Amino acid sequence: MIGHYINGKHVAGTGRRHSEVFNPATGEVSAHLSNATVDETLSAISAAEAAFPAWSATPALRRARIMFKFKALLDLHANDLAKAISLEHGKTISDARGEVTRGIEVVEFCCGMPHLMKGDFNDNVGTGIDTYSMHQPLGVVAGITPFNFPVMVPLWMIPMALATGNTFVLKPSEKTPSASLMLADLLAEAGLPSGVFNLVNGDKEAVDVLLTDKRVQAISFVGSTPIAEHIFSTGTKNGKRVQALGGAKNHLVVMPDADIDQVADALIGAGYGSAGERCMAISVAVTVGDVADKLVEKLKEKVKTIVIDQGLNEKADMGPLVTPQHFAKVKSYVDLGVTEGAKLVIDGRGYSHVGHEKGFFLAPCLFDHVTKDMRIYQEEIFGPVLSVVRTNSFEEALKLVNDHEFGNGTAIFTRDGEVAREFTNRVQVGMVGVNVAIPVPIAFHSFGGWKRSLFGDHHIYGMEGVRFYTRLKTTTSRWPAASKSIGSEFVMPTMK
Ligand code: NAD
Repeated sequence: MIGHYINGKHVAGTGRRHSEVFNPATGEVSAHLSNATVDETLSAISAAEAAFPAWSATPALRRARIMFKFKALLDLHANDLAKAISLEHGKTISDARGEVTRGIEVVEFCCGMPHLMKGDFNDNVGTGIDTYSMHQPLGVVAGITPFNFPVMVPLWMIPMALATGNTFVLKPSEKTPSASLMLADLLAEAGLPSGVFNLVNGDKEAVDVLLTDKRVQAISFVGSTPIAEHIFSTGTKNGKRVQALGGAKNHLVVMPDADIDQVADALIGAGYGSAGERCMAISVAVTVGDVADKLVEKLKEKVKTIVIDQGLNEKADMGPLVTPQHFAKVKSYVDLGVTEGAKLVIDGRGYSHVGHEKGFFLAPCLFDHVTKDMRIYQEEIFGPVLSVVRTNSFEEALKLVNDHEFGNGTAIFTRDGEVAREFTNRVQVGMVGVNVAIPVPIAFHSFGGWKRSLFGDHHIYGMEGVRFYTRLKTTTSRWPAASKSIGSEFVMPTMK
């Protein structure tokens, strides 16, 4: 039974309520997870609260040195982490290694935290008066993460929060808990004091405690839009700072001058990589002018070359979906698209993986002639299902992207710099790629969508992360000689 990590120790859960963890390739239940109770979650918060005074008083340089050791340990164990991800998520081992690398990059960024947290100083803002501002940690902060990046998304939060001096409670996805739990051991091995990082596995019961307990100062959430919205409204109502990243429907605009081979390659990787279970996956190709027929033919050719297998096969391009429930949901969207009148040009529903017939494998699906009134266009499917929407002009394509309720990522493929610049400036989306299909920002920029893809004021990691996990304090000081009279001031102080 998978339990929790509280105050520096692995804690067996009560098992009072538990959920199943699957091996998506075989379809078998690989473990049971004990869902944290209210008391277990409260004890994780208490451990983090008790650890905060000493940890926040630890010089930033010493906190950063623990990040350096943590980074070295992540490098050393990258393969073990990738294997744990692949076995519960189903993604390929090479993709899982990529995920671990993108997480490590945030830890690398946090190794420079003493510099990043540096405040501002002005001397003599008035006669003999100096003013300085500093960034101080918030206290106990919590992270709630989705199934699809069990290492990378927690690492968007944990190193940022810890290096800035906060203590942390993580609630990972109940579907892919093991790799996140391994992070707890690596942090301890790196020298992190007990109680600074805690982890409770579970579901809504644990999350509700994190959302309402007064000791939790801030919540970082990544997951689907309905839950993100709930986390944001409940967290802020309870006085917390909240960043809640939600779902997506990412469009890739194909201009008539784009290189069709490059576009097709990009769409195959961005649409079907990780079986489409990425918030930055491309799920809509928006063709402009007469490129659609050529593009669809190319995609049909290239889909045949995709190697589908269990994730641990180094040669696999795509694995199964995460759970039987998610498999059924994605498949039902394909059925719906047919009913709605879209043309299913590649149908992956009949696929059965030889030797793993009970695995949650769905082969790539491609819809052509999708229109904006269809639910398969409006809703996030989160599977290997790509839709082609045909438009007549750049303006029509741009409007389509801007009218969509989600605004996480988007891309344009063109050889025209002016068109690319126009698109970049006018598109209502948080992360934009120009001839780059999955524009996930590097750690020293920040990640976040617009519209209903993010609730809150801050993007995640990078300098946005430093701001999110700290609050500003500004001090105005004067050191008059003891004998010198400073008098009483009855008017609003002005600097003289
Ligand atoms: P999810 O919303 O179902 O779950 C996310 C987290 O919320 C999990 O830890 C889960 O246990 C918890 N949760 C679920 N229901 C809850 C409830 N009613 N109350 C409180 N907590 C609850 O998301 P998922 O299926 O794990 O992940 C896929 C989703 O995440 C997709 O929508 C995807 O687009 C999104 N995602 C977004 C980003 C981003 O950066 N914007 C990144 C990765 C994934």
